[in-house]
Amino acid sequence: MAPTATIGPATTISPATTALGIDVGGTGIKAAVVGPGGQLLARRSVPTPARHGADAVLDTVVLLAREVLAEAGPVHTAGLGTAGVVAPDGRSIAHATDALPGWAGTPVAERLEQGIGLPFTVLGDVQAFLAGEAALGAARGAATAVGVMAGTGVGGAVWANGALLRGATGAAGHLGHIAVPGAEGELCPCGRTGHVEALAAGPAMTGLFRRAVPTASATDLRDVARLAAQEHPKAVEVLTRGGRALGTVIGGVVAALDPDVVVLAGGVLDSGPWYEHALRAALSETTLPSLATVSVVRAELGSDAVLLGAAAAGRDAHAT
Ligand SMILES: [Zn+2]
Repeated sequence: MAPTATIGPATTISPATTALGIDVGGTGIKAAVVGPGGQLLARRSVPTPARHGADAVLDTVVLLAREVLAEAGPVHTAGLGTAGVVAPDGRSIAHATDALPGWAGTPVAERLEQGIGLPFTVLGDVQAFLAGEAALGAARGAATAVGVMAGTGVGGAVWANGALLRGATGAAGHLGHIAVPGAEGELCPCGRTGHVEALAAGPAMTGLFRRAVPTASATDLRDVARLAAQEHPKAVEVLTRGGRALGTVIGGVVAALDPDVVVLAGGVLDSGPWYEHALRAALSETTLPSLATVSVVRAELGSDAVLLGAAAAGRDAHAT
């Protein structure tokens, strides 16, 4: 069952009006008209034409948006969650990776407002995920929340005093790039060494396992998880070490922000119990003692969180 189907009219914190939500990832684009309470009234998804550049991506978003609006519109506001770092005014892309060539510098909000005719706000995908969980999911009702996404990288987002914290340059919440004991010398995808992403992201743990056991056959984290389930000590060690590292970092963030809740998401959580157990233990052991029992929960909205959060952010940004 789709997670949103369980959200009924009794939900008090929900989009008050319908809005258009867009999710632009490196591999797929989704668009939906999101109703009060988070219902997806119409939705489409297509592969991202990433290698054709930013114009092709924007053209695809416009086409998808027009389709869902024709089916379930009209709406008055729109939001878009995207890979990359979004400028703090929510209008353009400050930084992007090779997953979306040419995306950095693109004035996404202006271009989509011209193409679709709705006021847009743009936010990062992890920011959108947390905005969705705050509106409709595991962080609903929270004044302050931390979102953590552990997958091909380690991403984060901060919800502070009932709003998304974007930061001075749009990069607030990048907790994958916090230095952590045990990661010294390990190369992070950002180019620095010693960051938690170098120990706790899926590809990082797969690489560490292969380095420790060159003879083992492990092409991705699922293989490592399978070996851990067979009690392979190095597989268990790599997952435990990754979970401890991320838990230590979250413990520091919890001490800094004193959140109502920490929301965990991402495919790495499906690697068996070792990672999450180690994460929770390290968080409790390393944070301020009075915060050791902070609520740490799994995300509730699944793969639609970015879509729902983008719609909620669009509504909030343009509420009158
Ligand atoms: Zn880094």
